[in-house]
Amino acid sequence: MRASEIRALFAVASRPEVVSLAGGMPYLDGLPLDVIGEMAQHVIATRGTTALQYGSGQGDETLREQILEVMRLEGIEAHPDDVVVTTGSQQALDLVTRLFINPGDVVVAEAPSYVGALGVFRAYQADVVHVPLDQDGLVPEALEQTLTALSREGRRAKLLYTVPNFHNPAGVSLSAARRPQILDIARRHGLLVLEDNPYGLLGFEGDPVPALRSLDEDGVIYLGSFSKTFAPGYRVGWAVAPHAIREKLVLASESAILCPSNASQLAISAYLATCDWRGQIKAFRELYRERRDAMVGALAEHLPRATWTVPDGGFYTWVRLPEGLDAKAMLPRAVTARVAYVPGTAFYADGQGADHMRLSFCFPTPERIREGVRRLAGVISSESELVDLFGVVPGDGGTTIESPSPDLA
Ligand code: PMP
Repeated sequence: MRASEIRALFAVASRPEVVSLAGGMPYLDGLPLDVIGEMAQHVIATRGTTALQYGSGQGDETLREQILEVMRLEGIEAHPDDVVVTTGSQQALDLVTRLFINPGDVVVAEAPSYVGALGVFRAYQADVVHVPLDQDGLVPEALEQTLTALSREGRRAKLLYTVPNFHNPAGVSLSAARRPQILDIARRHGLLVLEDNPYGLLGFEGDPVPALRSLDEDGVIYLGSFSKTFAPGYRVGWAVAPHAIREKLVLASESAILCPSNASQLAISAYLATCDWRGQIKAFRELYRERRDAMVGALAEHLPRATWTVPDGGFYTWVRLPEGLDAKAMLPRAVTARVAYVPGTAFYADGQGADHMRLSFCFPTPERIREGVRRLAGVISSESELVDLFGVVPGDGGTTIESPSPDLA
């Protein structure tokens, strides 16, 4: 494991004068905090000896039933026994990797991939092999080619890690047409699919696309989370896995944490039972859509030489810088100009990505987003002048896999 080289910069970036387009923190001011507070109090007053006690390693049964209702919105039919409650989906990523990966085993992952998953794969010494994404998500032909090449070398991949909806960091989604194709390729190559889906219900247009798990019960481990659709502070996520894997996940989770927090689970369970959680998700979708619009509008106005994805949901857009610029080398100068982002190198295991950056639109207000992009444009334009004059900008670029710190989530 390695501490992030850019952690120190993020400490500066959290100062109020800096517009941070870096972190993936959901915007919680819209939550009915008074109601949630009363609910938490009620849980302790009425079920305190359960809430404050150790609980089941697999998670609270009522909550597991409620999780089925949440997943039904994406077409998933499962049984409460199939669900393992975890301390955020981050813990589920850790457990699945611990179960399946020995040092040197191959994990196939999208290029780019969620930084926190890459940190876990690295901690277990996996060999990450990237497969490209485009506007419609993971490219089936590229996946097929990569798996064929691996098996020719006598190396079999064990896991395919994918974020099919509103990708972190790329902002794209796997098209409905590609979903069965990806599953078919994975099945033929004996590859287990790890579907990481914290953003699936945060789409800006239309209904959610059916989850990969809804199309294949045996070949997919599905990860869900309340972090983005409700709040990350309770740290409640879950995994849905085929029976034999689910049993091992419970054992692995017990050895790591004994059991997930009962207090958190009961609070979330009360929230789902008594609040309009669907209405809250709708409100979040509208809030984030407005911020996405502010972000892409400002990019179009201020960054004529860059390109970016226009996400239909989630928290992030993925920006390709003008030719010759290095996002990691530029970061200290951006922070000096009071704007922060995550350099693209954080999202690859193999040193690619210096020409990209991830911008988050989830937390700052639309005005702050516009101001942040204006500041960023100033930095990019002075870097571009240097490139035009000298052909290079000072800086090291290079490989970074950031540790999965909350600043980068
Ligand atoms: N997966 C992805 C793709 C994420 O973006 C995040 C959080 N940023 C996580 C997993 C972890 O979320 P949590 O542990 O809060 O559920």
